[in-house]
Amino acid sequence: MGKRPHVIAVPFPAQGHVKPLMKLAYKIASHGIKVTFVNTESTHKKLFTTSKDVEEQDNIVFTSVPSGSSRTAESQPGMVNVMKESMPGYFKELIEKITSSEKDEHITCVIADSSMGWILDVAERLGIEQVAFNPASVATLAFISHIPKFIESGIVDYGGQVMVPDKVISITESIPPWEVTGLPWSFLGLVGLEKVFFECCETSQQAIRQVKWRISNTFYEIEPAACDLIPGILPIGPLIDADAPRTSATAGSFMLEDLSCLNWLDKQSSESVVYVSFGSVAVMSKQQINELAFGLEISGQPFLWVVRADLTNEPTPDYPEGFLERVGDKGKIVEWAPQEKVLAHPSVACFLTHCGWNSTLECLSRGVRFLCWPSFADQFHNQSYICDVWKVGLKLEQAENGLMSRDEIKNKIGLLLSDENLIANAVRMKKVATETVSQNGSSFKNFEKFIKFLKD
Ligand code: UDP
Repeated sequence: MGKRPHVIAVPFPAQGHVKPLMKLAYKIASHGIKVTFVNTESTHKKLFTTSKDVEEQDNIVFTSVPSGSSRTAESQPGMVNVMKESMPGYFKELIEKITSSEKDEHITCVIADSSMGWILDVAERLGIEQVAFNPASVATLAFISHIPKFIESGIVDYGGQVMVPDKVISITESIPPWEVTGLPWSFLGLVGLEKVFFECCETSQQAIRQVKWRISNTFYEIEPAACDLIPGILPIGPLIDADAPRTSATAGSFMLEDLSCLNWLDKQSSESVVYVSFGSVAVMSKQQINELAFGLEISGQPFLWVVRADLTNEPTPDYPEGFLERVGDKGKIVEWAPQEKVLAHPSVACFLTHCGWNSTLECLSRGVRFLCWPSFADQFHNQSYICDVWKVGLKLEQAENGLMSRDEIKNKIGLLLSDENLIANAVRMKKVATETVSQNGSSFKNFEKFIKFLKD
């Protein structure tokens, strides 16, 4: 009998990267293939609070390597370089340990987030097949693949700053153009962070170029032109697991999911609830939170709102006077929701979202309409697909003072709930998303091809 296939999966240490790779890991493991999921130590600590959580389950082993710093914010300026220098050594040791202790297993490949190119380099040096995982849209990948050309032609400098007066950058007519303020590495004009994001984008484009296997959490049907631009791309998404009986940790959540919102949703009428969440990173001012609270209140719809402790940089969210009393049971506020279960709930009508790629796919897969409020990186371009290409959502427009006003929020929620075209498009997209991962769907076949490679 041959040796048991064993896959090593390494995500970038950020919420929107760990979650989809963990879903992919479970999907691979469900085919009888062992997966070792390697987080950085700080991510591992965020996920697993008790050692019982970490026990091997469903063919998955969770372990960690140091990232080179005990600081938790691995997305901070400078950290990418620290990880690049420190992680290869620790990762090599881990691989050698696995190889010497698991004699009846064969490490088939290392799947690493495309922005962790240094991990793929270690795999290459050890003669192990490398697989790059792209957790963003393929359109984003296609755009960042143009970085060397952008630099060469003087469109952007070596730090990713735009050097031309153009308002948009286009890579082909069949993909919506990118506003220069909404590039994959744009971060509200914060030059230090934009540089970090730009470096990650550069690492990704190099990693994608150097490997044979390029896996992406998307599906061909929603962005065919972009998929056609990346040779050998394997779209295997949408990666969804709303029905899987997971703990917060094994769902890949850095925070404990507040399940009480599911009971609250059970009590609401069908397709009435506005679900509001801005993902794991976006922040807003206290003034904006106030305006949003008013908007939700005057919309007259029940709402479920995720207010992370760090949603605002200012001390504790401070709602308008009397807001919580007036809203009463019509509004539910949680620090972290089981988002996929929420989106799958029949009470949810629309999603007021920052348009992160995971949130976008999760919403699309459940036939829920979008109210878009992007704030950085690829979120603006995802919004273009949502509103202009798939036509399943509406954009919120900023007022002159830079805020989304309460009236804008109320009016767009009203429009979203009554627009028959948006409803029909959302239902159609759910069907496409379901079919692509069902028997003989395009993502299904791509995934089967990958599993065959792992088992051969
Ligand atoms: N998420 C969640 N509960 C929440 C908010 C978000 O489980 O209350 C998950 C969401 O399902 C998604 C991820 O966190 O999988 C966020 O990723 P996304 O790409 O949407 O945004 P990011 O956090 O990277 O900005």
